[in-house]
Amino acid sequence: MLKLYNTLTRRKEAFKPIKPSYVGFYACGPTVYWYQHIGNLRTYIFGDILKRVLIYNGYKVKHVINITDVGHLTSDADMGEDKMVIALKREGLPLTKESMFKLAEKYTGIFKQDIKKLNIIEPDVWCKATEHIKEQIELIKRIEKNNYAYIGKKSGNVYFDTSKFKDYGRLARLKLKGLKAGARTEVDPNKKNPRDFVLWFTIKGSKFKEHLLKWPSPWGEGWPGWHIECSAMSIKYLGENFDIHTGGIDHIPIHHTNEIAQSEAATGKKFVNYWLHGAFLTSKGEKVSKSTGGLFTLAELKEAGYESLAYKYFVLTTSYRNNLDFSLKNLKNAQNAYRRIKNIILELKDDKKINKKYLQEFEKAINDDLDMPKALSILWKFVRDKRAEGKIKTIEKMDKVFALDLLKKEKIKIPEKIKKLIQEREEARKKKNFKLADKIREKIKEQGYIIEDTIEGPRIKKL
Ligand code: AMP
Ligand code: ZN
Repeated sequence: MLKLYNTLTRRKEAFKPIKPSYVGFYACGPTVYWYQHIGNLRTYIFGDILKRVLIYNGYKVKHVINITDVGHLTSDADMGEDKMVIALKREGLPLTKESMFKLAEKYTGIFKQDIKKLNIIEPDVWCKATEHIKEQIELIKRIEKNNYAYIGKKSGNVYFDTSKFKDYGRLARLKLKGLKAGARTEVDPNKKNPRDFVLWFTIKGSKFKEHLLKWPSPWGEGWPGWHIECSAMSIKYLGENFDIHTGGIDHIPIHHTNEIAQSEAATGKKFVNYWLHGAFLTSKGEKVSKSTGGLFTLAELKEAGYESLAYKYFVLTTSYRNNLDFSLKNLKNAQNAYRRIKNIILELKDDKKINKKYLQEFEKAINDDLDMPKALSILWKFVRDKRAEGKIKTIEKMDKVFALDLLKKEKIKIPEKIKKLIQEREEARKKKNFKLADKIREKIKEQGYIIEDTIEGPRIKKL
């Protein structure tokens, strides 16, 4: 039986889908104004493991990820500038709609390549906020019709009236009394209550007149608030009540809290049955950021000598519900472990059998709220168990969830600097300077490669 921790109830619950054998799954996607850093990518790895575990359990999954290309402002209090406009300025690009779309396309493309490198299965539906303006306007109309919205006196923006929604803040267990006006640095004076949020921004009411993406609407020309896109698109592709919604834990108090309020206000139905949230990638105990460090992209890790799948292995060593502290040293340890287990597996012979005992242990771990650290430890125990049969076929099944290419034979590309060291070592050996040759071998090892001397000459392997 699959158990998942539901943020709504703060409990591990047996998973029961709405329709038998089918799961509707929406994951909040990237804002495409910049590279997704490895912290963001941790959240998508978690979502993919969840999806793979569902598929492993025989469910057919319809998976939707959105692309935020409008409406995500720098401040969660609805006061900042659109992140896309800031990105145009940062990159010295013209402030036009065309260049904004190009920018979104560029970072969407990089994101898609990155998730491929991590063996993350693409969703069934990619949906862009700018391509669903009609659906967002329709949803706001329904919210307005049900009396959950009001128009700002000066701004003309459409706001969600949180005081009308009985259970506002249920997901985050917000203590609403603590949320008084002035609690945040800047509060929009049009709001009846500081926790109210914008459904539709009007150009008229915005200090950012240069906002590039604007559409006509019943409330004037403008653009949608950030939260409404996820409600409108998830409802469009998965229905008014669906099974699973994911995101990072930072989304609990505002983005997901607001998604629930506006969706349920519009439909009168429970929006999502299971909310799952991935904890942060941290650096020195704090969420990775420019100031704490650890704000790498996959490409930067590669440049520093770390493979994408070694990063994924590192992520899987901790439960998705716990923060994971990143450092290059921690990553290096994970990369060494990953290469070691791959090398062991690649030497194994296929006896065409399945090892039921280990497979059952593995299934128990993954079905216990995606306990991947446990699943990895079972894998290690299994490969080291000399008497255990059925290694190859069983690992093949396990790798449907890990997706770490455990059985993929790879030609290793040897970096130029390692090639040079190998050559230097060969020359030292020819001159019978074995002390120097050993020293070079150590140096090569420090960089993650081992040399085996064979009759045909030196053979190189990744550690
Ligand atoms: P964004 O592009 O800012 O909307 O973020 C994309 C996803 O990454 C969201 O689900 C965030 O919750 C998640 N996220 C942001 N920072 C981190 C972090 N340091 N660790 C894990 N997930 C994060
Ligand atoms: Zn979202």
